[in-house]
Amino acid sequence: MNDAYQGPTITSELGRLPIEAAADRNRLSRGTAGEVLDMIDGVSVVELLRDHGSPLFVFSEATLHRKLRHFREAFTSRYKTTSFAWSFKTNRLDAICKIMKDEGWIAEVVSDFEYQKARRLGYEGSQIVYNGPYKSRSSLKMALQEGALIQIDSWDELAVVEDLAEELDGTFDVGMRVWVTTGHAPIWSKFGFSLTNGEAQQAARRIIRHPRFRLHTIHCHVGTYVLDPETYGVATQILLGLRKNLSDDTGRLVPCLNLGGGFPSNSLLHGMIGPAEVVVPPIEDYADAIATELNALPKRDRPLLRLEAGRSLVDEAGYLATTIVAVKGGPRPDAPAESLSSIVVKEQMLLSDTARLSYVLDAGVHLLFTANWFAIQPYPCRRVESLPVPTRLLGCLCMEIDVIRDHVDLPRLQTGDHLTFHPVGAYNFDQSMQFIYLRPAVVLIGTDRKVHQIRRKETLDDIESAEMLPAHLSG
Ligand SMILES: *Cc1c(COP(=O)(O)O)cnc(C)c1O
Repeated sequence: MNDAYQGPTITSELGRLPIEAAADRNRLSRGTAGEVLDMIDGVSVVELLRDHGSPLFVFSEATLHRKLRHFREAFTSRYKTTSFAWSFKTNRLDAICKIMKDEGWIAEVVSDFEYQKARRLGYEGSQIVYNGPYKSRSSLKMALQEGALIQIDSWDELAVVEDLAEELDGTFDVGMRVWVTTGHAPIWSKFGFSLTNGEAQQAARRIIRHPRFRLHTIHCHVGTYVLDPETYGVATQILLGLRKNLSDDTGRLVPCLNLGGGFPSNSLLHGMIGPAEVVVPPIEDYADAIATELNALPKRDRPLLRLEAGRSLVDEAGYLATTIVAVKGGPRPDAPAESLSSIVVKEQMLLSDTARLSYVLDAGVHLLFTANWFAIQPYPCRRVESLPVPTRLLGCLCMEIDVIRDHVDLPRLQTGDHLTFHPVGAYNFDQSMQFIYLRPAVVLIGTDRKVHQIRRKETLDDIESAEMLPAHLSG
């Protein structure tokens, strides 16, 4: 052993340009030459924006197929009897839902509007799982008549469904949602019946004993972007326990367990240290956690497993290409103090730090709702030979809160440069709104690398067609 103590040395590295020094010290750093994204599936970002306008949502059909097949394979290779449902609320664009349908995904909807959308797309009632805390009576009736699987969420809803069953002829398969404590936080207790206080058992018995119902599914959806696969192992154990109790009690073995969605995509929340491919467990780990529990049962007792994935399938298939419309602030070392803008001076005073360079983009949080939680990565579309500097990305909305990234390292760019955000395929287009700006076009790059417009840019008429002026104000 070397017992000659050597004190820590402070190397000259610490005195170097901060960004370089940080990159040297940070073992998880991706280095200083940021990634560029100039093509999506072989199609140039610049050409896409030239042909369809900026900003632009872009979806990759090839990525979507790859994700769907990978997900399916991960589960069916471990547990054959798995049924896959696509969560419409994650992305309800017709073209996206149709790709899911063509790949054999059934529909998972959470409102009467989504239900109708699924029907219009050609889903039979029997290919629809109907979830959510509020389902209108008329939509519940339609769902029963059309053979959709209603996953009952509350005592009040159970009463309505019982009432409707009396009104209609026949017997009906129904499901019920339960909420469970798996150790995953936060606990989603808003939905379904509590398992711990006995409500779930009570509700299940009431459904099983009802002459017009067959309890087809016990369902739980523990959260979203769940980073611990074991959460699903625990949830499976708990649902199997409930199923066993009910079987001991009533002699009926519930045929289907639905573990919901919530599997993460390769994205990072603010403050997480990446890269995502290292931090986010692969889908195989989730499939293992679930299948291990199910495969421990005797063969004849094994249920149909159903999953309702959203985010993990579509997020990486989606991009938002944008353009820098203005450059603001930023340290200009050669500039005399009196010529610095007030925002730079303020930042330097408050943070006693170099002010960040800011870019104003032609897109904002009205298009990237998930930027509130996720550190969505912006990729320049050309290589710039400069060190990345701390940068802030400001949205185009006339609102101070419209900041897409408060702090991201980017090389120096200029007005007119493009930044493409990825992944943004989940929960962004669907939660986008016409606030201050209308929604941009959406294109799908097909597996043939052809660009298909799947939603046109909105116009003023789209908004105004729903408005009316009362007589005394018109004229
Ligand atoms: C939103 C939702 C899903 C999909 O969730 P992801 O986190 O996108 O996978 C699945 N099931 C239910 C009931 C949902 O509400």
